[in-house]
Amino acid sequence: MKTVTRSTCCYCGVGCGVLIEAEDGRVTGIEGDPDHPSNFGRLCTKGRSLPLTMAGHAGRALHPEVRLTRESAREPAEWPDALDYVAARFADVIERDGPDAVAFYISGQLLTEDYYVFNKLAKGLVRTNNIDTNSRLCMSSAVTAYKKSLGADGPPTCYEDIELAHTVLFAGSNMPYAHPVLFRRLEEAKAKDPSIKWIVVDPRRTDLAALADLHLAIAPGTDVALFNGMLHHMIWEGSIDPAYIAAHTNGFDDLKALVRGDTPSMAAEICGIAETDLLQAAEWFAASPAALSLYCMGLNQSSHGTDKNLALINLHLATGQIGKPGAGPFSLTGQPNAMGGREVGGMATMLAAHRDIGNAEDRAQVEALWGVGAGELSARPGLPAVDMFDAVAEGKIKAIWIACTNPVHSMPDIERVRRALRTAEFVVVQEAFEQTDTVPYADVLLPASSWGEKSGTVTNSERRISRVRAAVEPPGEARPDWWIANEVARRLEARLSPRQRHGNEQSDGNHDGSGNAPSLFPFASEQDVFDEHRTLTVGRDLDIGGLSYERIENDGPQQWPFPSGAAKGSARRYTDGLFATVDGRARFHATRYLPVAEPADARYPFRLLTGRLRDQWHGMSRTGRAGVLFNHAPEAALSIRREDAARRGLKDGDLVTVASRRGRLVLPLETTEDLPPGTVFAPMHWSGQFLDSGGINEATIGAVDPDSKQPELKHAAVRIEAAKLP
Ligand code: SF4
Repeated sequence: MKTVTRSTCCYCGVGCGVLIEAEDGRVTGIEGDPDHPSNFGRLCTKGRSLPLTMAGHAGRALHPEVRLTRESAREPAEWPDALDYVAARFADVIERDGPDAVAFYISGQLLTEDYYVFNKLAKGLVRTNNIDTNSRLCMSSAVTAYKKSLGADGPPTCYEDIELAHTVLFAGSNMPYAHPVLFRRLEEAKAKDPSIKWIVVDPRRTDLAALADLHLAIAPGTDVALFNGMLHHMIWEGSIDPAYIAAHTNGFDDLKALVRGDTPSMAAEICGIAETDLLQAAEWFAASPAALSLYCMGLNQSSHGTDKNLALINLHLATGQIGKPGAGPFSLTGQPNAMGGREVGGMATMLAAHRDIGNAEDRAQVEALWGVGAGELSARPGLPAVDMFDAVAEGKIKAIWIACTNPVHSMPDIERVRRALRTAEFVVVQEAFEQTDTVPYADVLLPASSWGEKSGTVTNSERRISRVRAAVEPPGEARPDWWIANEVARRLEARLSPRQRHGNEQSDGNHDGSGNAPSLFPFASEQDVFDEHRTLTVGRDLDIGGLSYERIENDGPQQWPFPSGAAKGSARRYTDGLFATVDGRARFHATRYLPVAEPADARYPFRLLTGRLRDQWHGMSRTGRAGVLFNHAPEAALSIRREDAARRGLKDGDLVTVASRRGRLVLPLETTEDLPPGTVFAPMHWSGQFLDSGGINEATIGAVDPDSKQPELKHAAVRIEAAKLP
């Protein structure tokens, strides 16, 4: 029988609606959902190729597998046995070494319901905040900057603003590749009104930069200098908005004092661009009826990512380019549900519904809502991604559960991660595919349902919550991620001692003291999980008390906030100039330019940049299964400027070794005119599944932003030499 199921694409944060066609238990086709407000029926090549990635079950993890010793191979196991074993091993470590000796590393690919159960398992049951996600590698600098400047996480803008903006400043985003369907909306707006200005800030001449009215090819990592220089010019020219600054912000005088020294000529010199271009960008931005900034990993994946975000938001606040149609800072989410993960608090630094671990009142609210008793949630900050794997390598974390992500590919300096997983006492990998770079380290492999086989919700870049629905049954014995976490949680709950379960002996929380406390995991369906999640948001900035599966079913995907009684969600935030800070005023931050963590030098003279290609997604565990997606770029290559290659006697197609202080890999060379001198570029996608070595993260650096803890995946110093082949 043929069926058509309404769902959401599983790749990027645009969150396109799809109609999945299936027959006899197989996905046979896909169309863009004409009624979905993110894409109105459009899909990009990746989305359109989703059925090709689901042909057959080859390569899927089909059965639970367990190995009892490191020396033995994993053997197939029954689900109850595998779940019992995971619960027993985690319980042993927790009782022996304490709750912070275990950790959970999850993913922005998970659905909100999956994320919720994992977060409650770690923080509510185990009482550790050691739960982090690959979203740490993606958006955490944007999150930190929103909270510091506007008072709360989440962009203030919506997709409609993309069509209403008159000046668009792209910073560290190659939108035609990373967010293609949204970029089509921009292209159409510009085709209708060619006076719209596009300013692109990117060291590379990307496809987007080639279309720009002004391309600012800044030296890597100099974004703060650029934004401060632009602000200096705006202040000097009187093109800021003093009335907006006075009415709605704090901290402008400190920022003004700082940027007094950041003259446009100095800034242009640091950035390596013409001063006239910097002045032009400042004038277009400040004079625009509506200026929108679209930014992504080029700002976030930096050891100064938070400062880069803050310096850009300063421009919006100083000119009043926020809280009105077509204007505002708009971080474009990389993964399909990095936003949903933040909403449930599924990170080492957060609690549910944008609450903070370090805030006693926030902890008390979650304790009351979860019924775990006063003072029971841990106030100790959890370890963010890079620190988490270091703690595993140091033996401080003994057991780690990795779900729906491939850190042996995606983390910086991946040899550090391999070392950690070799050291760990116990590694659980929950995965849809049987051969990722991380799976070989698993003591237990738990087979997970994948896209098209599971249900729940995701939140896209404009805060819009959409349903994801199963169109077919999962293959073999694969199960939904929330179900797996819930089953282990129930077993672990039964095993942990009453003191561990109920916290200190004085506290009885909701429990009756008989040992028969109600389970923290009463969920029978993903809808039960969503319903509990939304109760935790009531009264918060992201209140979705008025949203339900039924509401989305009837009225379509909705943006938060969507409080009880609302007729629809909110397209924009801060339209009344009232921000989410304690005093309602946005905060300027005086940010200084600081160089990259590892500048190029005589031994490692090239600056390595990394990024996405148009038709691949992350580590290619899915897109690598569709041959058509290799048409755009058939293999990994290292791009280098033509004269840099010639000076070293290298040419197109030569195999070269890319070496940093941490590791090396061999790639074919591809010459280009689109990079500045002394800079090379490699795509992030190819992993050890496709190369003899791991991917480009063999060479990247684990330096992190001090506030957001996001690593500098975008820049490292490397040397390039002809590969010595056997
Ligand atoms: Fe999927 Fe993103 Fe392409 Fe939309 S733009 S179809 S969400 S990959």
